[in-house]
Amino acid sequence: MRRIVIMGPPGSGKGTQAKIISEKYGIPHVSIGDILRDNILRKTELGALVKQYIDRGELVPDDIIIELTLNTLRDLLKEFNGYILDGYPRTITQAEALEQTDMKPEIVIDIMLNEEECVKRLTNRRYCPKCGEIYNMILKPPKVDELCDKCGSKLMMREDDDENVVRKRFKEYYVKTKPVMDYYERLGKLRVIDGSGSVEEVLKRILGELGL
Ligand code: AMP
Repeated sequence: MRRIVIMGPPGSGKGTQAKIISEKYGIPHVSIGDILRDNILRKTELGALVKQYIDRGELVPDDIIIELTLNTLRDLLKEFNGYILDGYPRTITQAEALEQTDMKPEIVIDIMLNEEECVKRLTNRRYCPKCGEIYNMILKPPKVDELCDKCGSKLMMREDDDENVVRKRFKEYYVKTKPVMDYYERLGKLRVIDGSGSVEEVLKRILGELGL
């Protein structure tokens, strides 16, 4: 399977898992959240457009996200023969838009984890603004204070990992993203994975489903 979608609630570990699988098997990783945050940092037109939604914990409107994702995948598939897509689709409209193309996923992994565990993980998450390394102050703390092990930069917390914003992101997830699971279930593409336990344990479950 080379065209893979990884879904799950905020904090379920989809970005972490997608990154590991991408590096291990050389399948390019596309994170829509990362692309949006990069645009905000670089102060692009797209960044200015999406910042307000992300800061509030709301989904960015479908038309913006669909255009961005389909263009990104189209460019990438000129060079590679697959992708691991994380953070898309988050609505039925987004899922349908991708399914109508020849870039549609072959398999959709849903990482399942309860809300309280996700909130705990997110409010303890830190990232390195310089090299992008992700930490968790409980599960994977940096060796020295709040400094990146790899490059020594001061770690930061994502603004939308504030608990109030996280709760809002969950509301969006239940209302708009949950139905996407049923959509892929009907297509026979959905594989639900238990997201509890260590990164290695969850990875093993995912690789089992992918046949890797
Ligand atoms: P993530 O890094 O995947 O947690 O995404 C962070 C934020 O980016 C989300 O809370 C949304 O505001 C926005 N976002 C990312 N992917 C999508 C998407 N597929 N549809 C709408 N908004 C998105």
